[in-house]
Amino acid sequence: MTAVVLGSVDLGESDRLMHLLSRERGRVTARARHARRSRKRYGGRLDRYSLVRAQLRLRRDRAALGEVDLLEPFLGIRTDLLRTAMADHLVELLRIATHEEEECPELFGLAVRSLEVLDRSPEPPGEGWLRAVVMGVLEASGLALAVEGCCACGGLVERFPAGFAAGAGGVLCADHAATEPGCAPLSRVDLEQLRGLAAADLADPGGCPAVGRPVRRLLARFCEFHLGRQLRTASFVDSLLDEPG
Ligand SMILES: [Zn+2]
Repeated sequence: MTAVVLGSVDLGESDRLMHLLSRERGRVTARARHARRSRKRYGGRLDRYSLVRAQLRLRRDRAALGEVDLLEPFLGIRTDLLRTAMADHLVELLRIATHEEEECPELFGLAVRSLEVLDRSPEPPGEGWLRAVVMGVLEASGLALAVEGCCACGGLVERFPAGFAAGAGGVLCADHAATEPGCAPLSRVDLEQLRGLAAADLADPGGCPAVGRPVRRLLARFCEFHLGRQLRTASFVDSLLDEPG
């Protein structure tokens, strides 16, 4: 299988439990034997973000990794703190939003293209790009955020403040915003930013729209509601994005 390394946890004295997102089988959890004890066994091939070709041996209880070939280490990501923080945010989201052994080539392609941008773009991408990637991952995971019509009535969203409710699936018209418990107010600018993110070309970070604090908060709330928890990496990447310059 071809896969992106999402991360690992130590297992016993010498092994690692690897989390991978594969093209062929969706998210895979597999034991890498002796990955901790012997650096020679896998070298840097199981480092986070790496794109690998790996053999998978299916055992009774859990899959085990066989030979692993490194296709692309994406070393450019590690040259910069913001790129690293964005990549960590992406792999955490992929780990939580994907399902084991459920094929999702679209999500795999999105993950690889996003890591390529983080590896190669002349300047680190901005917040708009990161949020657009998050929305893309959510959509490919079946958690699309509705930004066109009202999610309750399908009508146009023309009066402001309109609303945003994670539980309802996204944007609400002013009428439905008034009756939805826990609905956050949504300004015209917020709605335009959300639509800009949904339509953004992820291969062109410079062309992604700027994003204000309200939209950042709405997306965080949407992720938390649908994924069941806050992303651990969110506050660090946010703090880097808030640094001046
Ligand atoms: Zn409505």
